This record gives sequence, C-alpha cells and structure tokens, in this order.
Amino acid sequence: MTHTALARKYRPTAFSDLVAQGHVAAGLAGAVSKGRVAHAYLLTGPRGVGKTSAARILAMALNCEDRESAPGPGEPCGLCDSCTRIWSGVACVDVVEIDAASNRGVDDARELRERAMYAASGPDRYKVYIVDEAHMLTREAWNALLKILEEPPPRVVFVFATTEPQKIAASAAPVMSRVQRFDFRRIGPQSIVERLKWVVEADGIDVESEALQLIAQVADGGMRDGLSLLDQAVAYGEGTITAARVREALGLIDHETYAELLTLVAEKRTADVFPFVARLVEAGADLTEFVHGTGEVFRAVLVKILGGEPEALTDSLRHAVDQNHARYSAGDVLRMLKLLAATEAAIRRSPNARLHVETLLLQWSLLDRTVELSDVLDAVGHSTPNLVLARTATSTPTKPTATAKPSPPDPVAAESPNKGAEDSSTNLAEAWPLVVEAVGGKSRMVREALSHTTPLSAGEGVVELEVTDCEVHLEGLERNRGLIAESIEHITGLKVKSLAYKPQEAGSHRTQSEPPARLDRMADREERLRHYRQVDPGLDALAQTLDLEVLE
Ligand SMILES: [Zn+2]
Repeated sequence: MTHTALARKYRPTAFSDLVAQGHVAAGLAGAVSKGRVAHAYLLTGPRGVGKTSAARILAMALNCEDRESAPGPGEPCGLCDSCTRIWSGVACVDVVEIDAASNRGVDDARELRERAMYAASGPDRYKVYIVDEAHMLTREAWNALLKILEEPPPRVVFVFATTEPQKIAASAAPVMSRVQRFDFRRIGPQSIVERLKWVVEADGIDVESEALQLIAQVADGGMRDGLSLLDQAVAYGEGTITAARVREALGLIDHETYAELLTLVAEKRTADVFPFVARLVEAGADLTEFVHGTGEVFRAVLVKILGGEPEALTDSLRHAVDQNHARYSAGDVLRMLKLLAATEAAIRRSPNARLHVETLLLQWSLLDRTVELSDVLDAVGHSTPNLVLARTATSTPTKPTATAKPSPPDPVAAESPNKGAEDSSTNLAEAWPLVVEAVGGKSRMVREALSHTTPLSAGEGVVELEVTDCEVHLEGLERNRGLIAESIEHITGLKVKSLAYKPQEAGSHRTQSEPPARLDRMADREERLRHYRQVDPGLDALAQTLDLEVLE
C-alpha cells in the first residue's frame, strides 16, 4: 500500500478548509466573489498555518472552470481540471510558484518581470505568482518587483508569503504600501485536535484522543507539523495509535513521569530523587527535554495558583496539575523556576546533565521548608514574633546566614514618615513577577509589555513604573492601565490610585542609584538581625540545631 503523506493528502482545497484563519478566508473569498482581487497580497504568519495553501486556493478560485459546484461564493470547486492541476502543483502555466529561499537574485526578478508581461493562457484566466519565503528576496529583486506593481499588468496577481514581514518592511518598505496584507494566526491546540480528528476519521485511522492532544501540543501552532507528526505516529508500529506510541515515536517523556515529579517534590521525598532520575536515564530520556518539559509543567502550576487556566496540556497532565497545584505556593514555584533556568544554562555548558538534574530536584525537594519562627519559638518557650526561618535550597546546610525578606516591625523605622511608602514599593518589587504572570493570564501582549517594566515606587497608591524600550511598549501599557492596576491590586492588595509610566533614562539613572539603596536596606536588615540576636541569644543556636537559615 502506498502511503500519501497526510499533510499533503489533507491540504485544504477551499478557503473554508483553512483552520483558524476565518478572517483571511472571508477576505479572500469575498474579493474573488466581488471581483475585487488586488494585484498583490502579503500573507504573513508562523510556519505551517496555511499561507501557501491559501495562495493556491486563491489561484484555484480565480481560474476555476466550475464555480457552480464550489462550496461557497468566491471558493474554487476543487474538482475541475484547472483546480486539480493547480492543487497538485503540476503542469499549470498560469500559476508560478517561486521559493525565494532558493531564488534570491536579481536575474530571477528580471525574468519574473519579463514573464509577468505575458498574459495568462486564456482570456478568462489569471496568472498567479506565489512567492514563498518572500523575506529572502534581495533588495534588487524587490526593486524589480516594485516596478511591476507600480503598473500591474491586467489579470496578474502576486501572492507573497512570509514568516518575517518585518524583514520585508525593512528592505522593501515601498512594496508594503502596494500589497494587501493578511496576518495568519497561530493555530490553537484545540483547533489542531479538531482538524486531526477529522483527518483520522476520513482516513480510517484508529487513534486515542489523548494521542491527538499530545500531537497538537508538540505541533505548537502549526497544522502542517501536526499532520506530519501524525504521519510519524502512523508509521511507527501497528494498530490503534495510543498516547504511549506517540511518545515513543516522537521520543517524548511520558506524562506520568511529570505527574510523579509533581508529587515527589510536593512530598519532599528526597530519597526518591536518585532512583527517579536513574529511571529517566535508563529509559533513554533526553534530560535537556526533561528539564524543558518540567519548566512547562511548573509554569502551568504557577498559572493555576494565580487563578488562570493553563493551556496546551493533555488531559492526564492537566489532571496532575489540578491535583497538585494547591500543594505549592506561588513564591516557591517562582524560586523553583529560577533554579530551573540556572540548571538549563548549566546543562548547556556541562557534559554532566544527570548530576545537574539530580541537584535541581534535590534543591526543589528541600526548598519548601519554610516555617514560621514564631511557631518554633513558641514550641521551645521563646516568643519573638514574625520572624521566619527557612531552609533554602541555596544555603549551605551547616552555615545559617541572614538573607532578605521583610516583615519584623521595627520600632525605630516605623516612625519614619517614608517607611510605609518604602515598604509598599519593596513589596511591589518582590511581587512584580507575580503581577506580570497574572496579567499574562489575561493578555500575552500586555504581559510582554509589562515584562519591560520595573516598579520604582508605590507610595500612597501612586504606582510608578519604569519602562525600557518605551517606543515599543508604552502604547500597550497606556491602553491597558485598567488591567494592570487591577492585577497589582489583586496580587499585592495595594490600592492603586494612579499608575504612571516613566521611560528609562539614557545613561540609566537607576543602575547608579539603586544598588546603594538596596545595600542600605541590606545593612538595615543585618542591623535588625543583630538586634534580634542580642535580644534572643538562643536564636543562632536554635537555627544551628535545626539546620535552618535565619530570614527576617
Ligand atoms: Zn474548479
């Protein structure tokens, strides 16, 4: 049995087949049905979302010989001689496909220009040039094309497809004003699953729904990748395609492993870390991929803790996250993700990935040992309120050291009039990553903008944010003041009366002034800790005995 690749076999034949690109489909079909087709189109978007398919469907629709049989106005029939020739990409003089990645030179552009002068093969036909990877065209090639677009021959249509429109805008700005642009969206995992379901039904492939979710997750927004991955899974083994088979075919780490990790860390089962990693290694898992996948899982835990709904999780993993997220605190997960980022970097530099992964998991298992010192002191008959002892992953177990974390009421500082304001800005600075994540649950765009800000002050409800790359992000920040203020209030409890944006000054005022301020605060804390130690000489001994670290 010969097997046609699914990605090819199920390539869309009508605008309405394009997954998740309704706005493009409506625009192009509308142009065809109303006879208002532009001379040049620019189709942009990530790879594998249907740009080239849309270009071919446009060529089919313009040249279709049996419009009556089409599935809708402006659509091609998909079955007539012209449609099938264009769709299969063979022997059709009126549709020219050019891969700019391999045809960059001005000679090609010149040839293109000469050829464009020839009319289509018949009086009611259109000549369609489809230029893929158009951002790869040279400036000279664009100049030649621009001359054509300035005086476009009748019934000639150019369709440029690109993943990087900004490169075209940079090298051929005048072209941008002569093309009609359509931006294709990344395809959501659910839409990919739906399309895959349709394909497996049409093709009589027996497949578990969890397997399709897994493929959609790996496809990461690309429909063509989704179909290719399905092809790989079909080719690997016999019978029903299970999630396990997909994992094996694609070399993925199974989700039970991540689910087990969620409980192992939550239950601080340090002794199980080495056997856990040993099993991973024996199963031939790629540890870099494991660390990356683990980051995704704990990111989902963080989103869940912050009240959002993590996307792109398979049912089994979503179940594990739902079951375990309450066992983690947002602050702990943030610290874990920081340690994970350091491990990812370390693995890239070092050949001993296994040791780094073991160390990371041990650090995580030891991390969550935060106890209220007041509880400990009460238990042993002391009473110093609001101090926190923590065993942190970064400390050497035998040497307790003081690190920063605000909270003990300081009788002297409390009288200073600026104290309140300083406290709220300190809290806001510490909570800022949480605020950014909370906003990210509502809008990725605003999250991106917000990640370029640093809170400067938050005295009396007046929040001031310093913005880097102002020209890029300020507009988005301005438009979303409400969402940002709401998230600050939600996370910190701080009542936001006004929100001000301050561009980061050239020469960076902040890097000069902030370290001393931070040092002051550190010195301040050291001083207060010394004070506590004097008041309660048992503190150090207690910390030593319990192998804990003294935090304020
Ligand atoms: Zn047709």
